[in-house]
Amino acid sequence: MKMIVFDMDSTLIDAETIDELAAAAGVGDRVIEITERAMNGELDYGAALRERVGLLKGLSIERARHACESLPLMPGARELVDAARRMGYQTAIVTCGFMISARRIGEILGIDHVIANDLATNGGKLTGEVVGNLTEADSKARVLKDLAHQCGIDTSECITIGDGANDIYLFVNAGYSIAFNAKPVLKEYADAVVDQKDMRAIIPIIEKIEK
Ligand SMILES: [Mg+2]
Repeated sequence: MKMIVFDMDSTLIDAETIDELAAAAGVGDRVIEITERAMNGELDYGAALRERVGLLKGLSIERARHACESLPLMPGARELVDAARRMGYQTAIVTCGFMISARRIGEILGIDHVIANDLATNGGKLTGEVVGNLTEADSKARVLKDLAHQCGIDTSECITIGDGANDIYLFVNAGYSIAFNAKPVLKEYADAVVDQKDMRAIIPIIEKIEK
């Protein structure tokens, strides 16, 4: 195994970025409900993403940035990423969330590769459109393949860690998958399941794969 690919929202951070942006835009209640259903695999993922981002239309970039500055790391995230680095792994974030938060989380944790969507802007405000390569349920599979190819490794040499229905295609294509406080629909595809809210619990699982 050569690379660990992390989901971001509700995996490396203890929040859903889009829900925090929605709260800042005054549409929190509507968006939180859609997010929950999307992550349970009850909705068409792409349509649900576009609907939620559409509700953010008009939010100023400044307020969006401010909302993303206070996103909390998941307990144990720092220790897990540090341990992965010590074991010689490359690290990546592959998220259907947005660069506005992913870039910062990647920098804080020292992640090697950060791949996320962008929120379109015009005149200092969000237009309500999402742009990027991660806008459908199966997008993470293609992005994983591209990333692995770019790094000269095989997807079977990647460990993936995630929590939601949008991680299913990531799990199916990786060599080993860990469901972290995950929705039931994702656990079915996992090689290992962690149900405690502390990412340090993942370290011994990775050490065991190494042996
Ligand atoms: Mg997630």
